[in-house]
Amino acid sequence: MPDYTAPTKDMLFILNDVLKISTLDIPGYDELEANFTAAVLNECGKLTAEVLAPLNAVGDLEGCRLENGVVRTPTGFKEAFEQVKAGGWAGLDCDPEYGGQNMPYIMATAASEMFGSANMAFSMYQGLTHGAYSAIHAHGSAHQKATYLPKMVSCEWTGTMNLTEPHCGTDLGLMRTKAEPQEDGSYAITGQKIFISAGDHDMAENIIHLVLAKIPGGPKGIKGVSLFIVPKFMLNEDGSPGRRNDLSVGKLEEKMGIHGNSTCVMNYDGATGYLLGEAHKGMRAMFTMMNEARLGVGLQGYAQAEVAYQNALTYAKDRLQGRDITGVKNPDGPADPLIVHPDIRRNLMEQKSFIEGARAFTYWGAHLIDRAHRQNDQDADGLVSLLTPVIKGFLSDKGFDMCVQAQQI
Ligand SMILES: Cc1cc2nc3c(=O)[nH]c(=O)nc-3n(C[C@H](O)[C@H](O)[C@H](O)COP(=O)(O)OP(=O)(O)OC[C@H]3O[C@@H](n4cnc5c(N)ncnc54)[C@H](O)[C@@H]3O)c2cc1C
Repeated sequence: MPDYTAPTKDMLFILNDVLKISTLDIPGYDELEANFTAAVLNECGKLTAEVLAPLNAVGDLEGCRLENGVVRTPTGFKEAFEQVKAGGWAGLDCDPEYGGQNMPYIMATAASEMFGSANMAFSMYQGLTHGAYSAIHAHGSAHQKATYLPKMVSCEWTGTMNLTEPHCGTDLGLMRTKAEPQEDGSYAITGQKIFISAGDHDMAENIIHLVLAKIPGGPKGIKGVSLFIVPKFMLNEDGSPGRRNDLSVGKLEEKMGIHGNSTCVMNYDGATGYLLGEAHKGMRAMFTMMNEARLGVGLQGYAQAEVAYQNALTYAKDRLQGRDITGVKNPDGPADPLIVHPDIRRNLMEQKSFIEGARAFTYWGAHLIDRAHRQNDQDADGLVSLLTPVIKGFLSDKGFDMCVQAQQI
């Protein structure tokens, strides 16, 4: 069975020796001295390796199930999610006003790498929530922030992003989901969204869907798209979840992997939604989530390569096949381990080099995000906006290639 050990030493090397984060002139970075970063990553390494990694195979084999309109997560996910919540891992870099720990984004990025390597399907539940948190934090009214953010930072409520429809994925200007204004200031959302990650599950009291839709009569195409907060359960006066909103899961999507994450077809049948940010400026608001999500996808690419590499390395050291061309290395055994063969070593070293470079690139990107957010550094913001799609595209493509190479071993 594949195994995972958090590469804490390699991660700390990038943070402390390459980027020298505690010396950088960014608010909050002075607290990131070596002992502190090691303590955080060691704790995260324990949780991800001991609790989440063993659930990866369970999640993939068992998958999510849709039962009477509700998605059930695989055995053990719920209990593990409670541990993640109790440790405050979901709110590591979130605003302390809403219960977050206010650590720099670079620390949340390092933690995400471990979550992604250990169990990507599991980590997407909190990952999507973090994206939705960021969009509400950046574009929500004071009331919306006070209503939703504390529960999302703690992951008592989780979040989703709803862009894709059956006939449109890349070109969202073609979107048909509509949002009709109601007398009380809310909107009635009607339409179908597909491939919605963490669209429904049994690990949170409420799910806060962020849904892109068009207000009738607005500009055509992408300029007429607005963003709405659509809770699974409407909120009572006291803020607790009340009656069910008019939305449902149509089915679970068939996928080749990540079966532990519920990827849903979501049907909105006049569901009550609340405008987030300005009307017709939904893409801008959604892109607060998208930039984060894109960096996260690049990170997933090399995080998968890391765990694949670890298992290829273990196998190459253990499996006895053939003899070393320079002389026998394991005279007491019937053959030498695979790792003595030059092509196996080349293959492993290529994977390792990619992972180390990818990690440095991603953490460096995360530090630019911290510069942009914590220092309002416009140059850093411009640079990371340019490089985020590069991080996503290059690291996910190459990360996939590295997994295939690891699989060859
Ligand atoms: C596991 C998984 C989880 C997902 N989670 C979510 C989610 O949480 N929320 C959500 O809203 N969506 C989600 N999606 C959907 C995802 O965002 C879409 O699949 C994606 O936007 C692409 O849309 P599409 O599949 O309709 O492809 P299409 O738009 O049909 O594109 C098909 C191909 O053509 C290429 N293409 C399209 N336009 C151009 C162009 N102008 N130039 C060159 N090439 C082009 C595309 O890159 C793609 O390779 C998820 C998908 C998967 C697989």
